[in-house]
Formats: sequence, structure tokens, C-alpha cells
Amino acid sequence: MNNIFSLIDKLEREHSLSLNEYEALISSYTDETAGYIAEKAVAARKAVYDDSVYIRGLIEVSNICKNDCLYCGIRRSNRECERYRLTPEQILQCCREGYELGFRTFVMQGGEDAYFTDERLCTLISDIKSAYPDCAVTLSLGERSRESYQRLFDAGADRYLLRHETADELHYSKLHPQELTLTNRIGCLRELKDIGFQVGCGFMVGSPFQTNETIAKDLKFIEEFKPDMCGIGPFIPHRDTPFRDHPAGSVDFTCYLLSIIRLIHPPVLLPATTALGTLEPNGREKGILAGANVVMPNLSPSDVRGKYELYNNKLSSGGESAQRIKELSDRMESIGYKIAMTRGDIKL
Ligand code: SAM
Repeated sequence: MNNIFSLIDKLEREHSLSLNEYEALISSYTDETAGYIAEKAVAARKAVYDDSVYIRGLIEVSNICKNDCLYCGIRRSNRECERYRLTPEQILQCCREGYELGFRTFVMQGGEDAYFTDERLCTLISDIKSAYPDCAVTLSLGERSRESYQRLFDAGADRYLLRHETADELHYSKLHPQELTLTNRIGCLRELKDIGFQVGCGFMVGSPFQTNETIAKDLKFIEEFKPDMCGIGPFIPHRDTPFRDHPAGSVDFTCYLLSIIRLIHPPVLLPATTALGTLEPNGREKGILAGANVVMPNLSPSDVRGKYELYNNKLSSGGESAQRIKELSDRMESIGYKIAMTRGDIKL
């Protein structure tokens, strides 16, 4: 046990461990080790961001997707999913509403929907940036070509979120159809970084076939890649996917991993995800108390929110909704944090 505490101290000091050490840390998860590392993670986060929590307005632009990821509720072969796509006008209206509520980052996320060509996206991005030059635009639209990423960047997009999902090749192949590969996913992440985006990777906690060994590889990848953002949240099964009978990941174990990631890369922007809040009413507060510093309330039009169902019972109203920002702000204040109404760029 003492060994584990000294491993945590080493991570805090050196921001790096070997694969075996990461695995030892993961398998030594207990309430006691989680408490110890959370304290260090919170101190590391406060040293960079003080008591600020950044907010992002999430706009779920389309649930139409050409991919067939086995875990995802909006996968191509789910016939039960009622499909929708927002028009550029609707997306701009979300930004307008979000700006008035105080948001200074808009995240456009969606399935890989062929409607969103480079041309359409570039027009949309430059419209948003000229209407709101003090805002950051984040995209989370999956895998595209290098040329496409370059065009989106040139049009004014600032950040790109593309979870790597798992850094283990075999595990990747069990979560995805054959045409999707880890090599391509990582290639996209490297290109995005190279182009100049602030880049986010990440993975689900408790996804089917995940092991301590695969998580150790995820942590090593994060250590080496040094993402600006890192989205991790529990896997939650969806009734119309092949993984319907797999158990959900754990909130507390996700929080343990959030603390580890904060110590690996102290300035990383680390969201307390919707999936955390879906599994437990105070899941996002737990995430913040473990070292996260970002929350992403939903700005999508209310009539489509239920349709962007990546997993069952996904939160889309209450404190999750951008319109209830006061409630979110009260929740954060009750645990000693303040929502910052700024772009919230990474502080390197
Ligand atoms: N299409 C884009 C992409 O591939 O990055 C963005 C949308 S995708 C639905 C966003 C993220 O949702 C995925 O990276 C995945 O980690 C997460 N996700 C999908 N299904 C999930 C599930 N059943 N439980 C938890 N998270 C899930």
C-alpha cells in the first residue's frame, strides 16, 4: 500500500510513470487511494485554474452517422433512432441564445454526417466567428481528411475533440467495425495538433473488454500526446446496440482516473462529463472534486435533445441544460467553485 502512495507522489512530481506503474496504480484503486490522489489532483488544478470552472455550450448538430461503432446509440444500423439534423440557422440561433446566457465557447458535436461538407462547415464557422469574435469554436465531428481539418481551422475553428476511445489495437477492434482503425484515429489526432488546433482525446471508462492493461496504455498515450483537453466518462449501455447487456462503468472509478490524468498533465482541460451526471445526480460535482475543471451544458434546441441518445437515460434537462445555468452555478458554488464566463483556453 505504501508503495502506491509513493507512486502517486512520483506521478505528482514527474508527471510520468511506466506502463507497469500505471497498471499498478489502476489496480490499487480503493477509497483510500482515490481520496489521496484526489487531494493532489485538486491542488494541481487549483495551481493552474484556481477555483474557476469553465463552461462550454454543447450543440448536438446531427445524429446522422455513417459509422457503426458498437457502443453508440446513434450508430448507423440502429433503426430505432429517430434521425435529425440542425440547419445552419438553427445552429446560429443556439449560439445567439448561448452568447446571451454567457457562453464563450460553442462545441458543435455530431455523427459523421455527409451533409456537413467542408464548404457548409466553413461558412458556418466564419458566420459564428464574425458574429461572436470573442468566442471559441470547438468541433467534434469525427474523422476527416487533413485537408478538411486544415480548411476548418483556416475558417476559424479553434479546438477539436476526437476521443481516441482506447489506445490498445485489439480493444479498438472489439469496439468498432473493421473499417475503423486506431491507426487512423491517432493519425487524425496528430494532424489536428500539427495544424494548430487545441486538441482533445479521451476514452470511455468501463467499455466492454477494457482491462487495467488497456487503461494503462490510455494513460501512457495521454502522457505522451499531451492533449489540451481530455474527455473521459463512464460507458453507459444503449438498448439498441450490441453492447446492451454490458454493465455501465463506475462513477467513482472514472473520478479516480480523472485525478490521475490531472497529475499526468496539470494544465489539461478536463470535463466532468454528461455521462457522469447521468449515472449519479451529483456525478459532475464528484468529477470536479476529483480534478476536472470543465462542464458542458446542452445548448441544442429542446425538441432534439432526447434524440441525441448515445446511451440510455442521457441527461438533457435540469442542471444539464444551458438555460439552467444559475442552477449549475449554485451547484458549483456549493462545492467551492465558480463558473468563469470566459473562452477558457488552456493555460500552458
Ligand atoms: N462522431 C464524433 C466522434 O466520433 O468523435 C463525435 C460524436 S461521438 C457520439 C462522441 C463520443 O460519445 C464518443 O467519442 C464516445 O466516446 C461517446 N459515446 C458513444 N457511445 C457511448 C456510450 N454508450 N456510453 C458513453 N459514451 C459514449
